[in-house]
Amino acid sequence: MGASSFANEFARLASVRGDGQAAQSTHVTLFDMGRSLGGRQASRGSRDWPGLSVAHGAPGFHVTSPEAMRLCEPYIASGDLVEWSEADFGHTAADGTFTRGAFPGKGFFACPLPEARYFSGPLCERLVADAPGVSFQGSTMVHQLERWPASETPGGVAWRLKGKDGKVLGDFDYLVVASTAPASPRWTRVFGGQPPLAAAAASPTIAKECPELNQALGDIANLDVDPVTAVLLAWPPNHPATPALLELPFRKLTVSNTEGGLERVVLGSWTPTKGESTASDAPLKGVSMVLHSSAPFSRGVADVYGATSTAATLGKEIRQMRDLPTCGPELWE
Ligand SMILES: Cc1cc2nc3c(=O)[nH]c(=O)nc-3n(C[C@H](O)[C@H](O)[C@H](O)COP(=O)(O)OP(=O)(O)OC[C@H]3O[C@@H](n4cnc5c(N)ncnc54)[C@H](O)[C@@H]3O)c2cc1C
Repeated sequence: MGASSFANEFARLASVRGDGQAAQSTHVTLFDMGRSLGGRQASRGSRDWPGLSVAHGAPGFHVTSPEAMRLCEPYIASGDLVEWSEADFGHTAADGTFTRGAFPGKGFFACPLPEARYFSGPLCERLVADAPGVSFQGSTMVHQLERWPASETPGGVAWRLKGKDGKVLGDFDYLVVASTAPASPRWTRVFGGQPPLAAAAASPTIAKECPELNQALGDIANLDVDPVTAVLLAWPPNHPATPALLELPFRKLTVSNTEGGLERVVLGSWTPTKGESTASDAPLKGVSMVLHSSAPFSRGVADVYGATSTAATLGKEIRQMRDLPTCGPELWE
């Protein structure tokens, strides 16, 4: 449940044997409320600009363990992952001075460049595409979890998952929850109803089978959040600003002085898959840019966007948690 990077890798591992061949008897279904794989790391596209891929969440990742390195190697070989060099990083100090270079002490940093082959969505898609027994069911919220008699299942009971409308999504031998959302008290305020895992924990059968569940629910309820407001921008290849933006001396810029609200800038390139033409032989590259705010900025504007959207509901929630005043409707308008 959940189709983020963790869930994708888990699904891949579950569906292959030690020698990398398909485990014929294993089938893994990934359910996610989102339309595509990747969770918060999913890339964002646009119907209007086919080929656009903007790294919304983490644009790259540090590889520090041999296991993770082994996972990356085939994707580096295929060009889906590319290691970022020092020259891809920039930093502006509190006085505005720009420095080029890697952040000290971070180690190997893999990031799929060029052509916006970002770690997030595309890598998650590759992980699942390479896993023979895995299927993805997007736009599907798992709303209810039950233990259900099933003679063909080990122990004689299956996990029965139900959707928002009460429809049975399937019966499964094992359940892996790859998100804190279905266990968090915020679920009730954002989606309504009891969080699915909290409701499941109230069942004596499940409480007996999963004695750690209540402890996990308590830990998740105490988690604090640091919100980030992200602005996603894109320029097509034929825009007059594109050549200058492509020349910017960084791919990822961190900002020391966050008083203005800006903490990070992530720059990428993209190639239209259709609809763009050029008279020259130059590669057709557009630019994508993601601006990440500081957490204090994000808290300050958290409920400004709309009055009833999920973003607005989450924003009010964060303000209540931190005892901050809520923006009035005049700000939404
Ligand atoms: C703007 C932004 C910038 C970030 N920058 C960085 C960064 O630079 N470095 C870094 O390390 N991290 C960064 N992060 C955080 C990083 O993206 C997350 O830590 C990571 O993606 C979390 O992965 P996850 O597997 O825990 O969960 P998620 O990615 O949250 O995935 C959980 C999935 O479960 C699904 N789900 C939950 N409940 C249900 C349900 N009941 N039914 C069906 N589906 C469900 C959700 O739809 C979601 O897709 C950033 C995040 C954002 C948003």
